[in-house]
Amino acid sequence: MEPSEIITWLRENDPPRLAELWRRADDVRRCCVGDEVHLRGLIEFSNHCVRRCAYCGLRAPNRSVSRYRMSEEEILACARRAVAFGYGTVVLQSGEDPHTDTQWMAGLIREIKAETPLAVTLSVGERSGDDLAAWREAGADRYLLRFETSNRALYDRIHPPRPDQARSDRLGLLGKLRELGYEVGSGVMIGIPGQTYDDLARDVALFAQLDLDMIGSGPYLAHPDTPLGSGEPGGVASGDDQVPADELTAYKVIALTRLVCPRANVPSTTALATLNAADGRELGLVRGANVVMPNLTPARYRTWYEIYPGKACVHETAEHCHVCLRGRIESIGRRVGNGRGDSPNYLRRREPAATSP
Ligand code: SAM
Ligand code: SF4
Repeated sequence: MEPSEIITWLRENDPPRLAELWRRADDVRRCCVGDEVHLRGLIEFSNHCVRRCAYCGLRAPNRSVSRYRMSEEEILACARRAVAFGYGTVVLQSGEDPHTDTQWMAGLIREIKAETPLAVTLSVGERSGDDLAAWREAGADRYLLRFETSNRALYDRIHPPRPDQARSDRLGLLGKLRELGYEVGSGVMIGIPGQTYDDLARDVALFAQLDLDMIGSGPYLAHPDTPLGSGEPGGVASGDDQVPADELTAYKVIALTRLVCPRANVPSTTALATLNAADGRELGLVRGANVVMPNLTPARYRTWYEIYPGKACVHETAEHCHVCLRGRIESIGRRVGNGRGDSPNYLRRREPAATSP
């Protein structure tokens, strides 16, 4: 799909035309990844972060957030609960925390892999090639790193590099992750102040060019204790060029993502559920998504992982999220996936290697 066609869909507001987009995305989802909805148990194990992303409540200069780090034993207890709930994957997510050193993380991954059948997904920010290689070697299966926006100037404005970096290179890291044999996940925020329809269409086209295995995109939600959430820097795009950070645009991005990357795993995100607690997750699932991420983070830490305010499910327990999501999936006639739920895109890419002499 050309960016011009993607833009036309992103700007579409005619209900019958949109119904057509939802139907096409749902048909492609059914035929390429099936009716199963895969559950990824999310463990937000540290909210310490050295970065200064202009959009995120965990950014280092934000003094109003209480910081925590879960112990290895606490993380393992969450992984055991994931197994008890029948999940196939745990996602270990955190700020960019220097305390997460190479060996500590490698040891944790080895323990989870030795004790459980879980796939392990990492989402811990920009790390060195050596770290990524050591963690892959230890058994990590997947890595999530959103490129946030393909507009380089906008990215540089909202995502300053670390003091020891010339510039942040998330696209380079995605290439490295691919080389190391990870299932590679990325995505963007929708409706970043300054993001135009042209930018967002290029983002969607880039998902296909990068041949991503997992693509998670959700609406940008303003956090008042961040520069972007309090009106700086740069402001919104001019005229009607600014992409709205709304629910409808998030569904359009999910549907278009499914059309351009038919075999990728696509989550219906927590940010979407935050905009529409009643049925945002379900609508994402019937408009192209096939993954949801129930939260396994212990209740006492959840409120402190505040990347944006009002995050869905912060006052729920892991049990509650488990029962609630299962019910929501069944209510739309879908079924909870069995096993690890590897991305069909990834499995297909590895097929020729597996069968060659
Ligand atoms: N630190 C890691 C990283 O940046 O990749 C992982 C954790 S970070 C909280 C995960 C994602 O949260 C980011 O990639 C970003 O897209 C999203 N995020 C952060 N602040 C957000 C906001 N205000 N609204 C919506 N999404 C946000
Ligand atoms: Fe840190 Fe990730 Fe938030 Fe940036 S988006 S401040 S790297 S947690």
